Amino acid sequence: PKPSSSVKLVLLGEAAVGKSSLVMRFVNNDFQENKEPTIGAAFLTQKISLSTRTIKFEIWDTAGQERFASLAPMYYRNAQAALVVYDITKPSSFTKAQHWVSELQRQASPNIVIAVVGNKADLASNDPPPSTSAPISDGDGIVAVPTDGGEGELEDEEETIRKVPVRTAKAYADEEKALFFETSAKTGHNVAEVFTAIANQIPET
Ligand code: GDP
Ligand code: MG
Repeated sequence: PKPSSSVKLVLLGEAAVGKSSLVMRFVNNDFQENKEPTIGAAFLTQKISLSTRTIKFEIWDTAGQERFASLAPMYYRNAQAALVVYDITKPSSFTKAQHWVSELQRQASPNIVIAVVGNKADLASNDPPPSTSAPISDGDGIVAVPTDGGEGELEDEEETIRKVPVRTAKAYADEEKALFFETSAKTGHNVAEVFTAIANQIPET
């Protein structure tokens, strides 16, 4: 049998971005349209088989509500991996994700593998062609999302549901040396890929 290691993974992000839904898709290959919010934190495990080893994820799915934020350190302390999730239709959730990444870099284990995950990608089916305006940085690593909708001439005819451009989020993740994926817990798009990419980044022990 292949060597197996356990990896503690924590999910962080604003309420309702789809953290629990991503876990449910990964662990049960299932999705619920109107999931009841997580209270406190939920714990689940799931194995991934790589070519040379098996990784058993011990997943801590935290509640996004502010009143639970002070408990987060309990969950990311000793975590080897973190999924920092935002909703691509909600800029405030991307700002919140950037704060979580900063907090992890300051307070979590220095070797933690971080994945920045833009969820609800299924809602962006009417994406316009990519625009060229650059993300705005405040010089402190926090990147603001341009809100003018880029240069789309069709702006008024068809409202875009996507609010966080892929390249803004990808550039941010690159800067932070984090993995980056857009996912859909609803369709399953890229969900297994995120966990596999994380598993591949966990050093062999
Ligand atoms: P959490 O608070 O971050 O754990 O978010 P939940 O997993 O509870 O999801 C919040 C809401 O978003 C629920 O109504 C989900 O059905 C919905 N949701 C989650 N993921 C997706 C997705 O990928 N696409 C769409 N369209 N809805 C999603
Ligand atoms: Mg939840």
